Amino acid sequence: MTRTIAITNQKGGVGKTTTSVNLAAGLAALGKRVLLVDLDPQGNATMGSGVDKRALSDSVYQLILGLATVDRVRVHSQAGGYDLVPANRDLAGAEVELVGLDHRETRLKAALETALSAYDFIVLDCPPALNMLTVNGLVAADAIMIPMQCEYYALEGLTDLVNTVKRVRQNLNPRLEIDGLLRTMFDPRSTLAQQVSAQLQSHFGAKVYTTVIPRNIRLAEAPSFGMPAVSFDAACKGSQAYVALAKEVIERERISAINQQSDAVDIVN
Ligand code: ADP
Ligand code: MG
Repeated sequence: MTRTIAITNQKGGVGKTTTSVNLAAGLAALGKRVLLVDLDPQGNATMGSGVDKRALSDSVYQLILGLATVDRVRVHSQAGGYDLVPANRDLAGAEVELVGLDHRETRLKAALETALSAYDFIVLDCPPALNMLTVNGLVAADAIMIPMQCEYYALEGLTDLVNTVKRVRQNLNPRLEIDGLLRTMFDPRSTLAQQVSAQLQSHFGAKVYTTVIPRNIRLAEAPSFGMPAVSFDAACKGSQAYVALAKEVIERERISAINQQSDAVDIVN
């Protein structure tokens, strides 16, 4: 079974792309077959995987509009050890073009269907907006991961995201779960960060990943070398945290699969 995880938060700069790229590389390092899909016209996940976004013939834009298959648009990220559906500025146009098309929310899901058997995990790097591209990500996903910075306004906007998830669940994708909330860029010396972190745990309990991603300069430097930090400097604290996160994600997938099996048994009985 493939597990598709959308990395999403409509706020920019919270660590979505850093998480997408390093989670993908971490899962690959643990022997999983991984596809990373860049859903942001900024193409940061593409560049951070060592693929030049300016030199693409096809990208996720063609995929979403039904002009090309996954087979045609995917490339291999040597640096990350995973396959990548890349993105660039072209994708900004898709938002407008999708409005006039049928099944506009389910296009990514339909396009990825033929590729499911080739991967254990598909990671979707969503743009910083609750737009049609993000909705396509939420419809294609089994679960979402929400990266958050532990700062004063961390919880602001979470209600909008949760409401969007509820709407998608009701109308388009009933199986969508929240895999977890991820604390990113964490500075243990900050009292505020500790307070917000404790608040997240008391509100969301087990939905908060045990793994915390520390603020770590190597994570910020790696993209300029076109590499995930997990490959660029496996020993740094940030990379170790992302490999720990990958293990936690694998464990949550196992539990989710067991729960689904027991749901199926309940239905039969
Ligand atoms: P988003 O995709 O949510 O906009 P990014 O992953 O691009 O966020 O991160 C925003 C900025 O913060 C980038 O410059 C990135 O390199 C940096 N960054 C992300 N996570 C960390 C971290 N744990 N430590 C230090 N810098 C980080
Ligand atoms: Mg990003």
